[in-house]
Amino acid sequence: MAKVEAEFVSPPSISDRIHVFWHDGMLDHNAGTGVFDTAEDPGFLDVLEKHPENADRIKNIVSILRRGPLSPYISWHSGQPALISDLLTFHTPDYISKLIEADKKGGNNNLICPGTFLNPGSWSAALLAAGTTLSAMKHILDGQNGKIAYALVRPPGHHAQPDRADGYCFLNNAGLAVQLALDSGCKRVAVIDIDVHYGNGTASGFYKSDKVLTVSLHMNHGSWGPSHPQSGRVDEIGEGDGFGYNLNVMLPNGTGDNGYEFAMTSLVSNAVERFDPDMLVLVVGQDASAFDPNGRQCLTMKGYETIGSIMRSLADRFSEGRLLIVQEGGYHVTYSAYCLHAMLNGTIEGHPAELADPIAYYPDKDDNAYEEVISSIKQYLRNTNVQLWKDI
Ligand SMILES: [Zn+2]
Repeated sequence: MAKVEAEFVSPPSISDRIHVFWHDGMLDHNAGTGVFDTAEDPGFLDVLEKHPENADRIKNIVSILRRGPLSPYISWHSGQPALISDLLTFHTPDYISKLIEADKKGGNNNLICPGTFLNPGSWSAALLAAGTTLSAMKHILDGQNGKIAYALVRPPGHHAQPDRADGYCFLNNAGLAVQLALDSGCKRVAVIDIDVHYGNGTASGFYKSDKVLTVSLHMNHGSWGPSHPQSGRVDEIGEGDGFGYNLNVMLPNGTGDNGYEFAMTSLVSNAVERFDPDMLVLVVGQDASAFDPNGRQCLTMKGYETIGSIMRSLADRFSEGRLLIVQEGGYHVTYSAYCLHAMLNGTIEGHPAELADPIAYYPDKDDNAYEEVISSIKQYLRNTNVQLWKDI
């Protein structure tokens, strides 16, 4: 690693830096051990595992950004806890009161919804995740130095709906930042969510709004119970003023780098162009990677770098380079950090901090099932008669 660092001779100008917002209090959330994300011990296993959403995955993201090839391009900023009044810009008062009560009650493995545990330390970590994401958005909105900010946060947020927790998420970090952008004068915000799961929480928060375009690329996991009633299908397209402003791109299992690039260039970029946003948010999960225990989409570092590069181009074209990146899932403890590093490298012009992929060696796939899926999504959108999607 020292050899790689020695190759960097000239530090980049401040405008080429990625501004990372972080606070180590977010490591205090501990969802326990068990069989994967259940916290259950069936009694016949000698070795249980940490909950997939554990502090180790994030510690490695912090360390790869501190000591990896990208480190000269990073400016670090300290996050801070959100205020309760901040939370109410996205969440209902009843829901926030319930979380505060659950935290006060204490206890271990306090199950909020399937797979989602509020333990001592979880609520303070959740407040930090929300506040740190708001700080990152504020930094971009202030427009002083740097237009790309990365909110390195946990617990994740994109499944948290205005009135309920879901899928390891308590507070919708990205949704709060989007609302802050709108309240600060942005006219239209586009959210591109590439976590392997449907960003149902963010979508539901803006489901009736034509000010926010939510686009989610995800695998076909469907509804997973009362906390996640949404299906993630293309026909969940928004309601009222928001009809046509939620775009679900449900990609086949094993889609891989080529399929994601195809979806980003042939559909997502067009959607962003038609929407013409003045702020862009990339919601990123490394659980779409080839080795993730929770996802089946087979992205490698190369695919993540390409997505980062496409998002940078979109930001340059539409939002004066302004791009907020928000951390969500990604559960392979080492490869997630590599994929995040690759994606951030993709957002810097010339991709100057290449890091070799340590484990992914896939031949180019010739299975183009994703093309059929994208083409049927386009056909559906044309049939909705929403002006935005005419002739897509
Ligand atoms: Zn996920």
